[in-house]
This record gives sequence, structure tokens and C-alpha cells, in this order.
Amino acid sequence: MKKRILSGIRPTGRLHLGNLHGALKNWVDLQNAGTYDCYYFVADWHALTTEYNNTDLFKENALNMIIDWLSVGLDPVKSTFFIQSSIKEHAELFVILSMITPLSWLERNPTYKEMKEELAEKDLSTFGFLGYPVLQAADIIMYKAYGVPVGVDQLPHVELTREIARRFNYLYREIFPVPEPLLTDVPKLLGIDGRKMSKSYDNSIFISDRDDILRAKVGAMFTDPQRMRKKDPGRPEVCNVFSYHKIYSSTDDVENISLECKKAGIGCTECKKCLAERISENMKPVYDRQDYYRNHIDEVRLIIEDGNARATVIARKTMEEVRDAVKI
Ligand code: SF4
Repeated sequence: MKKRILSGIRPTGRLHLGNLHGALKNWVDLQNAGTYDCYYFVADWHALTTEYNNTDLFKENALNMIIDWLSVGLDPVKSTFFIQSSIKEHAELFVILSMITPLSWLERNPTYKEMKEELAEKDLSTFGFLGYPVLQAADIIMYKAYGVPVGVDQLPHVELTREIARRFNYLYREIFPVPEPLLTDVPKLLGIDGRKMSKSYDNSIFISDRDDILRAKVGAMFTDPQRMRKKDPGRPEVCNVFSYHKIYSSTDDVENISLECKKAGIGCTECKKCLAERISENMKPVYDRQDYYRNHIDEVRLIIEDGNARATVIARKTMEEVRDAVKI
């Protein structure tokens, strides 16, 4: 039996290169490792926790997100893709878990306060937003997941899921394995303005950006702030463009750019042009698959239906056990 793992992304917009290097590449590696049974889902109920008044594009975003997943190498034969809201059992388990989760566990969740501050323009004083870690726990333990791929910043969420699973097992019956965080060390790509890449900062390079749009965004990237003119020597180690080169350019090119930048032998405009070309070359297979799936939307819908059906089988079985254990 392969170990099952589970992860999801909220359909709040297009996926960007930060998502690609921070999550999706890792998902592909886990899928191809051959040791895991991977379940990846579109977390549309989670999107509602912050975007409850902005839902017009959820369905379109979900479809585009799955196209991006397929385009970066996720394979619907090896992995299961599903839409959270299509599996109603998640809501039922969420209700049951919410009955046994102490309020204090949610109130001490470090990301609760952080996100409220970060998204100060939204009214997040809602029951759903406070309770989103309970929904997250339901998503994970529904599939009796062995592990959840996460970055360090998401560790508190997994810990909360582990506590909720233990509490259920203690109160009713030992049904749920306590999931492990699968920590991954991924490169952090910053946005074009040097801040965290985020849709809300409008600083993202999307997976679907190409040609003129890609060149314009790369051309607008912040560089070494002390390098005002081409004749000033640069500091590649503090330059965001250089950190992209380290991902997209060859080792020889990276060394060469570093040397030339330090002795003012290359200007930032030229350096950025080169980067845009490297990104385009690297992303060519992704663009080709995006084009294919955009022209074969029915195929994408079938993949989603198939994934929903596979997820439903497991969710129904789990909920039968849960109802029996809770005696309802
Ligand atoms: S030459 Fe390239 S690495 Fe150097 S500061 Fe300019 S953009 Fe950054």
C-alpha cells in the first residue's frame, strides 16, 4: 500500500511562479516518487473563508488551476485531483470536528491574527474564518492521509490537525492516523517588487504569462537598489533578478552574470532580457500543455469528474466509520 498524501490550493486567482516552485514542483516530485498515493484538491470552500463576497471567478479559477496542474506535470493517472465542494462529506466531517475542537485552539492559531492583519481591508471576523483549520483537518483526515506537504510556515496548521485527530480518536474510536508534516525546502521566489509574491500585492508572474507580458513583468523587476547606472558595480547576492537566474539559467550563465554584474560588465536591462528568455525556454513544455488543455476543456472536465469520483469513494467509507463511532 502506498502512503496517501493530501494537499490543496485555494482558487482565488491564477497560479504564479511562486506557487510553481513553492508547491507544484514538489507535488510533481511526490507523485513521481512512486511511494505516495497523491490527492490534490481545489480548496474552494477555503477560498470562501476570505473571499465570501467575491466568488464570481471561483469556477473559472478552479478549471484554470487544474489546467495549470496538468501543464506543470501533474498526471491524473498517478494522482487524484478533486474539487473540495464536490465532496459534501467534507462539510459533514467539518461539523463533527467543530463540535470537539476547543475554541482556544483556534484562537491561538498564529496565522489567524497574521492573516487578519494582512487582509485588514476584509471583514474576517467570521465563524468560517476562525474555523478554517477545522475544515482543513477534515480535508486531511477524511483521506486518512499519512502526510501533508508543507512549508515551515504551515507547520502550526498540521499540528492543529494532529491535535484534532487525536481528540477524535480519544473521544470516539481510533479511526484516524495522525498525519505527518512533510517538510520541503523550496526556493522562495519574490514578486517583481521584491515583496512576497502574492495576488493581493499585484506583483506576480503567473504560470500563464508569456511573450510580451512576461518580458514586461521581468523588465519591471526591482534589482540591486544601489545600482543606479550601468557603470555602477552591482551586488547580485541582493538582486531579485539574480535569484531567478539561479533557478532558470545554467550554472555557467549564473557564474558569468555574477562576475559581469560585479564589475559593471552587464547592464540590468540586458540581464533581465536574458532572464525572460530563460524563463520562456524553461516554461515552453508547460505553455504547450496549457495550449493543449485549453483546447480540450472536455478532457479536463472528465479528469475532474474522475478525481471527484475516486475521492468520493474514500470519503463515503470514512464517514460511515465516523457516524458509527460517533453513534449518529
Ligand atoms: S546586472 Fe542583473 S544581477 Fe546585476 S543588479 Fe542588474 S539585474 Fe541584478
